[in-house]
Amino acid sequence: MLRLRGAAQESFHQAAAQAAVSRFGRQVFVRGVVEISNYCRENCGYCGMRRANRGLDRYRANVDELAELLVHRRPRSVTDVSLQAGEDPRAVREVALPLIRILKRETSLGIIVCLGTLDPALYRELREAGAEVYILKFETSDPDDYERHEAPGTLAERVEHIRLLADEGWFVSSGFIVGLPGQSEERLLGNLGLAAELPLTGCSVSPFVPGTDTPLAGEPMADLDLTLNCMAALRLLQPDWIIPAVSALNLAGPGEVYGRGLRAGANLVTMNLTPRELREAYVLYRRERFIMTEDRILEAMAAENLAPCRQSLGDYLRHARIPVETSVAADG
Ligand code: SF4
Repeated sequence: MLRLRGAAQESFHQAAAQAAVSRFGRQVFVRGVVEISNYCRENCGYCGMRRANRGLDRYRANVDELAELLVHRRPRSVTDVSLQAGEDPRAVREVALPLIRILKRETSLGIIVCLGTLDPALYRELREAGAEVYILKFETSDPDDYERHEAPGTLAERVEHIRLLADEGWFVSSGFIVGLPGQSEERLLGNLGLAAELPLTGCSVSPFVPGTDTPLAGEPMADLDLTLNCMAALRLLQPDWIIPAVSALNLAGPGEVYGRGLRAGANLVTMNLTPRELREAYVLYRRERFIMTEDRILEAMAAENLAPCRQSLGDYLRHARIPVETSVAADG
């Protein structure tokens, strides 16, 4: 399965895309991501925002500016906003919480957060403010790899937090990296196994991209075919899950890679809404980023005969169904 290439790979991906269409129709969820802080107390070896990277200008975004952008100037196809940051509890208190309260009051947007391993009391505050989906990636299912790459805490703790979040009523999405240096095929398959054991509503598959200013800068980029095969396998194993086409696909390969993600069964796309002046300092991989704008996203979807879903992810997960026809949120 992981080694499929050529015509056999194409059939495999077609089966995965068909599984997504059977469950979700020809609709794809569209979220806008806002990167609210690039401070991070962690030191993951695969990430440019690790605390040891002293050359990075750190920022926390301004709540009022983000609120103005998201309430009044967000792209029309966006139904959910994903607030993302390094592991920075101060940004959770000072930026995420007040922003979520404003967005819940003034818009019908679904709220997704990706803010790292936090104190359970902070998870509760975020939930009470109106966030519904928590993204907490386990990155690798192998405890030794997890430790070697200095991922946050231990794998056991990460998994414990995923379960805790689900127990407390969150819709939890996770994710893993394909192509981490030293990753064997067995370990890669272990990621699919761990994902299946967890109480998840979705999971991402990210290609390893050697980040500038990281200990892994000299390592090779992930094999794109391997990454896409993992995505297709995940879709076939979990037909009901929300599986994103991650923007790192565009860094891992040239051409219409993003479209290949959609053709391998992805049903969520992400548009970057971080204000331009902050975006350059949010360096997960490299300073040069391929930013997915609304035009690029809509073009990639149209090429696959897919359309933006009008329902927010939170709303969908609450009701676990796609309405026949709804109107785009008119606020904003
Ligand atoms: S992957 Fe996340 S937790 Fe790890 S260093 Fe980067 S921003 Fe911090």
